[in-house]
Amino acid sequence: MGKEEDSLILPSAIKDDIIQHSLQEWPLEACGIISSSEQVEPSEYYPARNEKESSQEYSVHPQDLFKILTTIEKRGEKVWAVFHSHPGKTAYPSSFDIKKALRDDIYYLIAWVERSEVKEIRAFKIIGTRIEEKEIEEKNRDDL
Ligand SMILES: [Zn+2]
Repeated sequence: MGKEEDSLILPSAIKDDIIQHSLQEWPLEACGIISSSEQVEPSEYYPARNEKESSQEYSVHPQDLFKILTTIEKRGEKVWAVFHSHPGKTAYPSSFDIKKALRDDIYYLIAWVERSEVKEIRAFKIIGTRIEEKEIEEKNRDDL
């Protein structure tokens, strides 16, 4: 087994997309999928509807999930992360989020959002009930 990575790279363009989506869905939780060409560098954010229409929980709408997964597969890419926002609360996985996190090979990104501002974005691996936080390194496309 290789050494687990302690950090991940988040391109600025994807960060901007998830910020915009989080603000747009306020006061509800926003959610979506981030794909990557390898399991290393993320390439695209796909916003989805939150089927729960809740400010406390999220569930990627099954129709959107199907469309997104089909597109990702057609592009020869993989699911890199599941993103969702936390309106008015810290960007740390809730007990609901932990139960919901069925994959240990992808990242879970969470944004703490207030009415007109995203306060922080944090990234985690969730393995069973164990939470490993990963440091986010932001990169401009020009730096790549
Ligand atoms: Zn959550």
